[in-house]
Amino acid sequence: MPSVIHWFRRDLRIADNTALYHAAAGGSVIPVYILSSWKGQHYWTGANRQHFLCGCLESLAKNLETLSGRLIIREGDALTELRKLLSETGATAIHFNRDPDPFGKAVEKELTDLCTELGVACHGHDDVAMHNPSEVLTQTGNPYKVYTPYSRNWLSLEKPAPLPKPKSLNTPPGIPSLPLPTTAHWGLKTPSAELPEPSERAARSRIARAVSEITAKYSARRDLPAEDGTSRLSQDLRYGLISIRTLYAKVIAGQINASSAARPSIDIYIKELAWRDFYFAILHHFPHVLNHEFNEDWKGLPWDEPGENFEKWKRGETGFPIVDAGMRQLLKTGFMHNRVRMITAMFLTKDLHIDWKLGESHFMQHLTDGEIASNNGGWQWSAGTGADAAPYFRIQNPWTQTARYDPDGIYIKRWIPELANIHPKRFQAPPEDGRPLAPGYPLPCLDHKTERDRTLAIFKKHRGA
Ligand SMILES: Cc1cc2nc3c(=O)[nH]c(=O)nc-3n(C[C@H](O)[C@H](O)[C@H](O)COP(=O)(O)OP(=O)(O)OC[C@H]3O[C@@H](n4cnc5c(N)ncnc54)[C@H](O)[C@@H]3O)c2cc1C
Repeated sequence: MPSVIHWFRRDLRIADNTALYHAAAGGSVIPVYILSSWKGQHYWTGANRQHFLCGCLESLAKNLETLSGRLIIREGDALTELRKLLSETGATAIHFNRDPDPFGKAVEKELTDLCTELGVACHGHDDVAMHNPSEVLTQTGNPYKVYTPYSRNWLSLEKPAPLPKPKSLNTPPGIPSLPLPTTAHWGLKTPSAELPEPSERAARSRIARAVSEITAKYSARRDLPAEDGTSRLSQDLRYGLISIRTLYAKVIAGQINASSAARPSIDIYIKELAWRDFYFAILHHFPHVLNHEFNEDWKGLPWDEPGENFEKWKRGETGFPIVDAGMRQLLKTGFMHNRVRMITAMFLTKDLHIDWKLGESHFMQHLTDGEIASNNGGWQWSAGTGADAAPYFRIQNPWTQTARYDPDGIYIKRWIPELANIHPKRFQAPPEDGRPLAPGYPLPCLDHKTERDRTLAIFKKHRGA
């Protein structure tokens, strides 16, 4: 019986996996994952995500065994490894789910050429987004640059249904494989951060919890970082432990049974899923966003050199409690609440005047859910340079943001234990007496109003120029 290869990439699950489903229809499947061989420091990757990836691969290997499959691990350049595997196994086709990032797309193009050269069928499938970027276009066939009309169109489209998991894979015996990796493979230490359990089963129970406990109250709680009010599924979507179709189908099923009061809140949750697709589409249609401002007006903005204040920002020692709490949550857990991502990102770009690309890279090194498109979109939104970004003159004030979103200081105290005994009102304005809030906690490293005025002047001057 001829075999076909399924090349696992960011789709580390057996259920509702488009390429795996189609590969299995052809008979015997050789599932392969190819480890990258970079070592040590990487400006866009770090121990949290690699550790999570290792867990995902371990659980995937077990899940594949339940389908008479065996995960083959290889290491190195994807094209070289796939060429070798084709020649070792005589496989007649390769299936893979398409990648949303320019780096992955470049490899796919080379793979298509390789398959043509070898006379092997090459099947790329759409899987990662709910709707492919070319499905959601304006009436004139152009990409959207603004989220609201994009989301209206996105919401109006029929949603693809989940696919069943394959019945059997029948991987041929005897194909050599490397052992499952640990973070040491990349020269990294096991992270100290407590990461979510990396398995398809755990991700599915996180969906179940989101549907039963989160989405109905999402609109009231999603902006409050002290609350457990968001679904915490971003790392699962990032590594494909769940598919966006399955998540959507479960949320809609929950909405049908929800009270009429809860339904609008669930609609708001669904619109967040459209943001994810929106940023995939922006990256697809405007790949220059990886290196430049989306909005040409802001190309070449003069940023300050990252000095000691950048280090303070990374460590969570700026003296702005809400900023520091967010940055410490990131270091301790590999996650940061969305509202605080916006506050910390705006602080870096509008108060410290530091290039958003440096913040983008720091987030990518630490976030377990680090997703190139969403991270870039979130950073450019906060910097005021992106698609549908906050206009440059709308600059969040970290003190008033605290009063609004963490009025009782619960989130701040959770991540900054030095401040445990401080009255929360004192997190909502700079210290009046000019003294630190607590021993060991720094004074604010700058005056927000002064830096806000400077940002306005920089942006105005740049636009004039
Ligand atoms: C500066 C900055 C950087 C960000 N970097 C990332 C990143 O690297 N990876 C990432 O997945 N998200 C990123 N986001 C978006 C958002 O913060 C996270 O998706 C969210 O906090 C994940 O938590 P959750 O799963 O509980 O989200 P929920 O609030 O429960 O939302 C459900 C899902 O919707 C999607 N989603 C929600 N909000 C957004 C958004 N604004 N943009 C895109 N998708 C969204 C995510 O897939 C999320 O898992 C970033 C936002 C900002 C402002």
